[in-house]
This record gives sequence, structure tokens and C-alpha cells, in this order.
Amino acid sequence: MPVIKVLFVTSEIAPLIKTGGLADVSGALPAALRTLNIDVRVLVPGYPQVMAQMGPSEVVATFNELPGFPPSRLIFSIMKTGVPLLVLDCPKLFSRDGGPYMDPETGHDWTDNPIRFGLLSKVAAVLSSDASPLSWHPDLVHGNDWQTGLIGVYLSVATGAVPNIITIHNLAFQGNFRPKKVKLLHLPPDCFSINGVELYGKMSFLKAGLYYAWHITTVSANYACEIQGDELGFGLQGLLQSRTKDITGILNGIDTSDWNSETDKYLPAHFSPTRMSGKAHNKQALQQRMGLQVDPAIPLLAVVSRLTHQKGLDLLLEIVPRLLDFPVQLVILGSGDAVMQQDARDLAQLYPGKVAVLIGFDEGLSHQIEAGADIFIMPSRFEPCGLNQFYSQRYGTPPVVHNTGGLADSVVDCTPETLKDGTASGFVFSGMTTDNLYATIQRAVDLYRDERKWKALRKNCMKKDFSWESSARAYREVYLKVLGRS
Ligand code: ADP
Repeated sequence: MPVIKVLFVTSEIAPLIKTGGLADVSGALPAALRTLNIDVRVLVPGYPQVMAQMGPSEVVATFNELPGFPPSRLIFSIMKTGVPLLVLDCPKLFSRDGGPYMDPETGHDWTDNPIRFGLLSKVAAVLSSDASPLSWHPDLVHGNDWQTGLIGVYLSVATGAVPNIITIHNLAFQGNFRPKKVKLLHLPPDCFSINGVELYGKMSFLKAGLYYAWHITTVSANYACEIQGDELGFGLQGLLQSRTKDITGILNGIDTSDWNSETDKYLPAHFSPTRMSGKAHNKQALQQRMGLQVDPAIPLLAVVSRLTHQKGLDLLLEIVPRLLDFPVQLVILGSGDAVMQQDARDLAQLYPGKVAVLIGFDEGLSHQIEAGADIFIMPSRFEPCGLNQFYSQRYGTPPVVHNTGGLADSVVDCTPETLKDGTASGFVFSGMTTDNLYATIQRAVDLYRDERKWKALRKNCMKKDFSWESSARAYREVYLKVLGRS
């Protein structure tokens, strides 16, 4: 089969720059696609973190005259995974301290985000058309989330444009701005309409992406259905319904070498389904590190998450005092909403030795928590795919999840039947109420006390295959279909 050349465009990529699941996907999926004879190159903004870590590199193009944008250049490098990287170096837009999207001083988005990600989209479109200065020409351009949403708009007026697809990792983030940006970004003047980039009077990067893409994918089959409904369509359900034939849900995989309990560099002890003693050691080390009472018998509940309304952790925080009666311990690693952060800190102060909270982002600790905890909690109100429920299952830490999006697609509720047939892998609840969450955690803790059943459940979790292989094959099918080759 001839090689397919794909330009994969993303605003974050692990391990160079990460705020969430998009980075994990961008770090792993291109590498998996390359094993399927797909020549993927990744275009990513040259944030300081990327520039500092990218390794040997060479400038392969300069863009001095893109209307509306400051000068930029393209730097070629190769990731440790072997994936070629095209770094968009534009110091005026990307060389600054802070997060990729947010000004840490104000806590608000960078005010020039439309120009920053407009440039990312513009350069992706240039590379995907006759105007490309590179000798490598993609057959298809694959954007991700709103930051790449204008690729299709720019391509709509380019010559030699290749097909473009977009993957939705979270429909709630849309990149909606005032209409005057249409002019600043030098978009075609007639594109500001319902048949274009307009969404309820704003100009919307994501709406544009969904409107102009040849095909849309999202990160679980369940979420692909949910976003076409009123509850989780975030105002885009009408457009998505009209494109229902062009939407495919593909569940994410995980990086199984980074998340391998037998080799994980962050873990104080390694373990496997047949040698579980290392897991107990991890629990002890985690209890020690987090200042929890060291007790192998008490169920240790855990959260690693952005602390936002989406993740539903307000429900968990509310029931902590009741949960501690079971008894259980709780460890939380996360950051986000200021009120939720404070509520979590208050609980840690109120219940020393029982509740431990670290506000911040800590990759190593996230691995230690997944390995050392007994039960992982993920009560997301909505969850396009979610990654931590994969990590926790792989590390023998059955998750408690809300019945939504990718959580529903990747966790099998533990019942006498599913435990017997070997499919049970966690605890799933429907109905976002504190009572439902409480009852489900109680169900998990009850099972934890039954050593034989708990061992069986953990084993089921750890034997599941979450590698990227089958997901990458599903993306290849989409590429072939869009290119008319399937
Ligand atoms: P989302 O992308 O919505 O934040 P996902 O579950 O898809 O949620 O992915 C989140 C990723 O970010 C996971 O790899 C998770 O482990 C990681 N993560 C989230 N918060 C933290 C944190 N505070 N410290 C370390 N890793 C974190």
C-alpha cells in the first residue's frame, strides 16, 4: 500500500508541552501511525518548552509576508519517538513564560490567542497547498481542536489544497472571538456567515474547523453521539447533526511504554499482574510522600485531574466527610478552579493524615498515584475520552466513573455477572448526584474488602489492551476514506 503523508497539527505534544489529554494523544498517535506506513509530521508552536527540548534542528522555511502575521520560521527536528517535528518559531507570539494558552499573571487567556493560533492554522494551510516552500507535501492535513480550526478556511481559498480533517478532543473549548478578528486574520470576507465561521454572532475557530473539514473525528464513539444532542452539543449540535455521516468516534489509546508498571521510571517499585507485591510498596511510598497515615489495609482513593466543573470533583469534595467514615483515605493532585482548589486544601487541613492535596501539575506524582492508590475517582460531567481511567486500570487501580463519553466506552461496571465473565474493570454510575457517587464509592470499598474478588477485578483491569494500535488503524481507515482510497 502506498505511503500516506499526513501533516498532524496540534497546539501541545507530550513530553515537550502538556496541559491535558491532547498532548498525550499528539505524542503517541503519530508514532503509532508511522508503524502503519503513514508518513506523519507534526506541526507545533515553538513555545519556549518546545524550543528548549527539541534536540538537533534545522530551519527549513521562513514566512516573512503572511498577511496579518508577524515573521516566523519553521524548524525541523525529530522527536525521541522518531516522529518528525515542524516547530513554528514565532518569538513575538510564542516565546513567553507561562502556559500555552493562559497568561499566568492574569489567569486569563492570552489576548492574542486568535493571532497565535490563526498563524498555526495559516502555516498548516500553506504547507498543505501549492504555496508550500517544503519539498515534502502532505496528502492530508489533520488538525486537532479549536487551535487548528481555521486550517480549512484558509484552504478553502488556496490552490492545490489537500483534504483536511479535524479531531475534537473537547467540544467545550471553541475559540470564540469578536467578529472583527475575521479581518485581522485575513480570512475570506464572505466567511462570516452561518455557512462559515460565524457562531451566534461570534467568529468561532472550532465552528470553522467543523464546517470546513472533510471529515470530523472525536475521541470516543459515545462522545460522537453525545455531541449531536442538546445536552453536550455546546451550541454546535445542529451543525454536527447535519454532518452526522462524516463523524467517526475513535477511542484514544495510551502510551504503553510510558505507562508500564514493570518499567515506569517514576515508581519506587515495579509490579505486574502476576507479581503484585510492588503495588503495595507503591501504596506505602505514596502514603509516606503525601503525609497520609501509613496503613496497607485502608482503601486509598485518588484523583489526578484538572479541577474544573467538567470533572465533577465538586461532588466528591462535598461527600468527603461522609466517605471518611468507611474509613478511606483520599489523595488529590490537580489544579484549576480557585474555589475548588481552596475547598480541597481546606479538607486536607481538616483531615490531616486522611486527606492529602497537592495543587499543581506533577507528571511523576501522577504516575505514583495511579500505581499506589486502590481506587481512582473520575466523576466527570462529560468526558470526551479521558485518559486517567486507562492509566488506573493498567495500574490495577479500578476507577469509579460517571456513565458518560469515553468513560462509558472504556470501563465495564462490576456486577456479579461481569466479575464472573472477566470483563468487570471498575464502577460506573449514572445520574450526577452526590448520593449516586457516594453509593458507587461504597460499592467499590465493599468489594475492596473481599480480597478474592478484588484481586480478580484488578487482574481484569491490568490485562486490558489500551495500546494505540487499533485506534491508529481506525485513523488510517478515515484517512483512506477521505482520500477516496478505501
Ligand atoms: P483533560 O485532557 O480533559 O484534562 P484527560 O483525562 O483526557 O483530561 O487527560 C489529562 C491528562 O493530564 C492525563 O494524562 C493526566 O494524568 C494529566 N494530568 C491532569 N492533571 C494533572 C496534574 N495536576 N498533574 C499531572 N498530570 C495531570
